[in-house]
Amino acid sequence: MNALVAVPAGLVGLVVGSFVGVVIDRVPHGDSVVRPPSHCEACGKPLEARDNIPVVSYLLLRGKCRACGAEIPLHDVLVEIATGVLFAALALRLPTLWALPGYCVFAAGLVALSAIDLRQRRLPTVIVYWTAAIGGVLLVIASALTSDFNRLLEALIGAAGCFAAFYAVWFAVPKGMGFGDVRLAGLCGGFLGWLGLRVVPLGMVIAFLIAGLPALTLLILGKVNRKSQFPFGPYLALGALAAVLFGEAIIQSLGVF
Ligand SMILES: [Zn+2]
Repeated sequence: MNALVAVPAGLVGLVVGSFVGVVIDRVPHGDSVVRPPSHCEACGKPLEARDNIPVVSYLLLRGKCRACGAEIPLHDVLVEIATGVLFAALALRLPTLWALPGYCVFAAGLVALSAIDLRQRRLPTVIVYWTAAIGGVLLVIASALTSDFNRLLEALIGAAGCFAAFYAVWFAVPKGMGFGDVRLAGLCGGFLGWLGLRVVPLGMVIAFLIAGLPALTLLILGKVNRKSQFPFGPYLALGALAAVLFGEAIIQSLGVF
């Protein structure tokens, strides 16, 4: 059943990824995500429907605007592909397909937040809140449809636990981490908790493990010092997504908890 849904979920992901690209370009500047419609950044010409098909249009146009020939940013396509792959992977891996819409919203929010954090070193609060609100409502519906309200309780505990843990770190070393990371940790804790409380610490451990390597490398190369802020958002997102997709498998193969 899950395998049948993976392909359509991936296609929906490509379309949603196209919107995520708009969010990444506009939200940090406070611009509307619906107006004006998609246009070429170079010449301002609105995109025709045939030039607005995720990935396909980019390939047919060979990465150039039909009107002015300016290069279409490659990261737009990478965001579409990443979102599509995540939606398909979620369809394959989630314990129940009822939870798929909620986790797709979560994944799309994480892609947007990671891209903005990498580029501009910030995690716009509005994206965290919209992801939490829409994703949260969808998880409440998924819990109702599966009559499994215990998951909601675990989601709340996961969110509160991660928020509190990151708040403590932020409070102790306010310069080491932005408050955006604290909010994002709460968001991730909620979505990990819905899958089971033991998945929560796993996601956080994976985040710290994959963040540790580049952080240490930068420190050794002298690109940052102990006082620099490190964009932790993308690693938190990667850790959370890895735990959502493979958490149960990892826990079972380790035989821990
Ligand atoms: Zn153009």
